[in-house]
Amino acid sequence: MTRVAFIGVGNMGAGMASNQVKADRHVAAFDLSAAALDKAVAHGCSPAASVAEAVKDADIVITMLPAGKHVREVYEKDILPNAPTSALLIDCSTIDVDSARAVGVLAKAAGFRFGDAPVSGGIMAAEAGTLAFMVGCDEADYPAYEEALKPMARAVFHAGDLGSGQAAKICNNMLLGVSMLGVCESFALAEKLGLDPTKFFDIASKSSGQCWSLTTYCPWPGPVESAPSNRGYEGGFLTALMLKDLKLAQDAASKAGATTPMGNQAEALYAMFDGLGFGQKDFSAVLQLMRGKLEELA
Ligand code: NAD
Repeated sequence: MTRVAFIGVGNMGAGMASNQVKADRHVAAFDLSAAALDKAVAHGCSPAASVAEAVKDADIVITMLPAGKHVREVYEKDILPNAPTSALLIDCSTIDVDSARAVGVLAKAAGFRFGDAPVSGGIMAAEAGTLAFMVGCDEADYPAYEEALKPMARAVFHAGDLGSGQAAKICNNMLLGVSMLGVCESFALAEKLGLDPTKFFDIASKSSGQCWSLTTYCPWPGPVESAPSNRGYEGGFLTALMLKDLKLAQDAASKAGATTPMGNQAEALYAMFDGLGFGQKDFSAVLQLMRGKLEELA
């Protein structure tokens, strides 16, 4: 039986680990939060007392942690000194490209295979096993990553070498943040011009303004039944997480010397929206800021 060590079984990790269990893999889980670990155990994972214990005889090690500093620390102090070098190391957290590359270099120097494999999709996709993974790893290692990630995925992509998974993730999410703001701004203008927003949706979704933020995730309540706008902007992809990804994108852009004025504006707008206390609302709720109707989010 394939042995998986799963480190970080929070909102995303819990569902992902449970899909590894469903694929008949033995999953040793560890989390600093006892409540998170209890939930993973209820999904069929075996609790480990420490990261070291979880990884000691693992075939696959998966980490799903909050940020780069957690990933660096856990790999340096706990995983690399304790896992067998045959273990396939996979970090699925969303972190900065530099941390992903630094951890990868350390892991490779210690004789491991390492891949950064952040995900697209939220908590529901994690539970359903329908996440999209973008993997940064050596070409020769990619088939092993695809096989390891399959139980949690609707799609797995090889983005390129080390760090490319994180690069793909932040570029995609910068595009998403910018496109959502464009859609929200257009709805707000349509309303002010006396256009029926539903008519505007019908027209734009069949015209050149068509995009995922409009037709799959429409911020205006009504046209797209499954969108968070129809449930008070609860759940979905939190504003605080969009802001985190936009900050990562701006940080990467300034280090790489890339010009990203739209991403910069998007970060500023989401920072404002988060600062107003809406960090836990879905990121499409920013429509109400554009309309000057924040009271609708109360
Ligand atoms: P979360 O805070 O719910 O889970 C992270 C877990 O890591 C927590 O349970 C925490 O206790 C644990 N943890 C922290 N440090 C640890 C350590 N040293 N050892 C063991 N466990 C430790 O966060 P989440 O929503 O599950 O997100 C995880 C990652 O996935 C983040 O990088 C996030 O940006 C990314 N992500 C989240 C979503 C989403 O919709 N929530 C979507 C895509 C990507």
